[in-house]
Amino acid sequence: MVLPIFVYGNPVLRKVAKEVSMDYPNLSEFIENMWETMYESDGIGLAAPQAGISIRMFVIDGSELREHDPSLFGWKKLFINPEILDYHEEKNMFNEGCLSIPGIREDVQRPVKIKIRYFDESFKQHTEIYTGLKARIIQHEYDHLEGILFVDKIHAIKKKMLKSKLNGITKGKFSAEYRTVPALSS
Ligand code: ZN
Repeated sequence: MVLPIFVYGNPVLRKVAKEVSMDYPNLSEFIENMWETMYESDGIGLAAPQAGISIRMFVIDGSELREHDPSLFGWKKLFINPEILDYHEEKNMFNEGCLSIPGIREDVQRPVKIKIRYFDESFKQHTEIYTGLKARIIQHEYDHLEGILFVDKIHAIKKKMLKSKLNGITKGKFSAEYRTVPALSS
């Protein structure tokens, strides 16, 4: 089932998400819905809070960015209860967007390499090192679990320039090719 996406201004995007327990109700169904929702909205990643559920989990498929890095083609992963253990000190810039912030793209500076520990769907633990765009995509999605959005990481002057656009999203003034939940819905 395709889920609607929660947009900028909705409080769920600002919460620190909770750990996922092994007996979380209907977890595999929710994971299936996350994949469907991400593909339906042409996203590269989707974190659970973007579907309105504040738990520590995200899905990624880097295929859309294969022009930048061929190894992203078919790079498809689920991360449950991830923990970034180490950020490399070197950073670079890349233009990011987010399904929860329709119509806005900005350059964001991020560490070029990370070490991450996470659980897969069978709750098997993995510790891996990622570099380049893989590291970037993971960091973007991981931030969602901490209540952080990419626009928090851009230059203050740029953020000021975006303020009215961001307020517009909160008020429902945006267009998206996928189903969304208005930020101010009660
Ligand atoms: Zn995002």
